[in-house]
Amino acid sequence: MSLQNPVFIPGPTNIPEEVRNACYVPTIDHRSPAFAGILNPCLENVRKVLKSDSAHIFVYPSTGTGGWETAISNTLSPGDTVLAARNGMFSHRWIDLCQRHGLDVQIVETPWGQGLPADRYAEALAADKGHRIKAVLATHNETATGVKSDIAAVRRALDAAGHPALLFVDGVSSIASMDFRFDDWGVDVAVTGSQKGFMLPAGLAILGFSDRAVEASKTARLPRTFFDIADMTRSYAANAFPYTPPVGLLNGLKLTSQMLLDEGLENVFARHHRIAEGVRRAVAAWGLQLCAAGPEVYSDTVSAIRTPEGFNATRIVTHAATKYGVAFGVGLGEVAGKVFRIGHLGMLTDVMALSGIATAEMCMADLGLSIRLGSGVAAAQDHYRSTAA
Ligand SMILES: *Cc1c(COP(=O)(O)O)cnc(C)c1O
Repeated sequence: MSLQNPVFIPGPTNIPEEVRNACYVPTIDHRSPAFAGILNPCLENVRKVLKSDSAHIFVYPSTGTGGWETAISNTLSPGDTVLAARNGMFSHRWIDLCQRHGLDVQIVETPWGQGLPADRYAEALAADKGHRIKAVLATHNETATGVKSDIAAVRRALDAAGHPALLFVDGVSSIASMDFRFDDWGVDVAVTGSQKGFMLPAGLAILGFSDRAVEASKTARLPRTFFDIADMTRSYAANAFPYTPPVGLLNGLKLTSQMLLDEGLENVFARHHRIAEGVRRAVAAWGLQLCAAGPEVYSDTVSAIRTPEGFNATRIVTHAATKYGVAFGVGLGEVAGKVFRIGHLGMLTDVMALSGIATAEMCMADLGLSIRLGSGVAAAQDHYRSTAA
């Protein structure tokens, strides 16, 4: 693997030079006022990135998975029912985490490649007259299949049924890259991590809680210590953590959250969409299909690309790493060996994307697939040329 090349995995993403430098801080006393100057801008900026005026923001030394645990352990009690669709590896893992915490997960099985079926959520919620379902889980962007889902439609399903369940959204591979609207969508807990749209190393779980979710935490009985939002809230009020904070990562988050706001969130989303569209044009030019079922669910942060029947897609990933020093994502779970993934989120330009597309072409040609060199690159070039600012 060459350290000169960008990575094309859907997280961890490429880290801008100035962000790496921002993470490299000398030891500071985390009980001194200097720490407040790092923590508070992080919390304020993250709230804006979530498009919320009032969300309670929590940042833990952890990863997205710890964010899932924070969401459920603070709001639910043993035996509670949650409703969740399974349409890929990440929604599957969140369901597994819930089950291991003793929750009763009502699973809506959904073909991989499709988005969350809001209509089936609506049916399940309407049928739940006794309000046994305490929370609805929704993976905004299924990173395994490159599929985005309509969270507003899930909110409408809750509202149409007059159902009081909390809405928890996994935005690990969407927040800070694709439009996310905490307030408009009535999200109760949003979960993300540092190493995707926020362009940082892994190491932070980043969450927003609604007032209702905070209220639920007062009676929720699942065990929690490290992830207890009550401890975090008390400590934040004193500009501190309940334990030693990861100061370098937080200093990085202060910078990247500001970079996103300075670029303008809508510009960030438009940049991801443009770059993603170039990748999709390349895939079409290769004569290949995306795992995502149709344009309405295409993800702007990752594309999972199906390879021809009988060809093990993982070979492309292995070959790219060994011959060209470039990282693509492998297929996971049900689509292992059937797809390879190009991550296109975080710090990315047209030029970087073109290098990834060119590398994928070389690999596929090397491995005997009938790909004409330059075909995908040309399709992406056309798109980038005609849409450049
Ligand atoms: C990466 C990812 C996760 C897991 O996050 P970790 O930081 O690896 O724990 C969860 N959900 C989605 C959608 C992801 O893309």
